[in-house]
Amino acid sequence: MFINRGDNGDEHDNNAAITQILQLRAERAKLLGYKTHAHWRLENAMAKTPERAMELMEAVWKPAVARVHEEVRDMQALADKEGAKLTIEPWDYRYYMEKVRKAKYDLDQNEVKPYLQLDKLREGIFWVAGELFNFNFTQVTNVPVAHPDIRVWEVTDKTTKRHIGLWYFDPYARPGKRSGAWMNAYRSQERVNGEVTTIVSNNANFIKGKPGEPLLISWDDASTMFHEFGHALHGLNSNVTYPTLAGTAVARDYVEFPSQLMEHWLSTPEVLQRFALHYQTGKPIPQTLVDRINRSSTFNQGFATVEYLSAALVDMKLHLAGDQKIDPDQFERDTLKELGMPKEIVMRHRTPHFLHVFGSDGYSAGYYSYLWSDVLTADAFGAFVEGKGPYDKAVAERLRKNIFSVGNTIDPAEAYRGFRGRDPKVDALMKKRGFGPS
Ligand SMILES: [Zn+2]
Repeated sequence: MFINRGDNGDEHDNNAAITQILQLRAERAKLLGYKTHAHWRLENAMAKTPERAMELMEAVWKPAVARVHEEVRDMQALADKEGAKLTIEPWDYRYYMEKVRKAKYDLDQNEVKPYLQLDKLREGIFWVAGELFNFNFTQVTNVPVAHPDIRVWEVTDKTTKRHIGLWYFDPYARPGKRSGAWMNAYRSQERVNGEVTTIVSNNANFIKGKPGEPLLISWDDASTMFHEFGHALHGLNSNVTYPTLAGTAVARDYVEFPSQLMEHWLSTPEVLQRFALHYQTGKPIPQTLVDRINRSSTFNQGFATVEYLSAALVDMKLHLAGDQKIDPDQFERDTLKELGMPKEIVMRHRTPHFLHVFGSDGYSAGYYSYLWSDVLTADAFGAFVEGKGPYDKAVAERLRKNIFSVGNTIDPAEAYRGFRGRDPKVDALMKKRGFGPS
């Protein structure tokens, strides 16, 4: 039922609407002087052309599919051993995947959680921002908040004491609040008519603990916290004239790069030793447990990549197919067959309910952006690894100067070269996801 949403031939069927949207988009692109909707949408992205985006997707697709076949073999072996008498099908994947995870890595989230206290990790991200960007955080209570649970910190430069902005933290779920975790800017940095500093907010939906009890979160949630804080740092570091070009107002295939990059600092020993402390004993998370977390980080990346990438490829191909009358179902089937889609996986978003792509122009011909940003992320962290490590001041300064402070005032490809000294390479991403020779 879930995968057939919008595709049931009833009054909620979206196929005809999609055919029409695709035709209108193609027509508009032609009127504007572009070959296809994809060419129009990509012009202001870092990739610049659909061909370059396709090139990246195709480079990652093959090794990801190869990894899926290995994952399926592991699951099948386990099912056989248990005498399950079945062949792995899409509906078996998640169930057997968890069994393999337990068997291979013996990693249980409940073992990790006692070390991840929300407020300790918040101190951790402050400390990282201090090391990388020389920021200092002081809690303030003299500013308005939308709800008593929201806390605010003033951000200043550690050395010059200059005021940089305000950081709001709104971590708890409550009725009427949007789900998930996100960052938003209440005010952008600018200096059109004098200096205006930014006000950014990190928001999440943790269930508030009992008074006096620490709130424990999962490793994934901790990682998300670093991610969203990365968006906030992108805003706080902004140093431009015009608000429309400030902070995170950058190309769609570039905006997740600073935030994804920040995720890397969670697992640095400096953060874990100081801030991942057991809520009862106060002892830091044991290295053996960290090793197990790290080892399991490439687990199931075949599934995650193929599930995502098949949707991204179909999105791009639909918008390259131009003004021919497209039958979405048929197009999806043909494209997946041509790609060699593993039969054990279904696209993360099938065409009839692909909200990113058809809810608005937003991510149309742009679902590849997440992969593009992740290539930059993996390659950029390499600059620290090749240097003196995650807290290398010289690399951090290049990061601030070329990436975090410039908003959309320079071409992202040029900005990246300024930081890295060369164009991004895909190798680091392949390694991060555990693809290729192991
Ligand atoms: Zn993000």
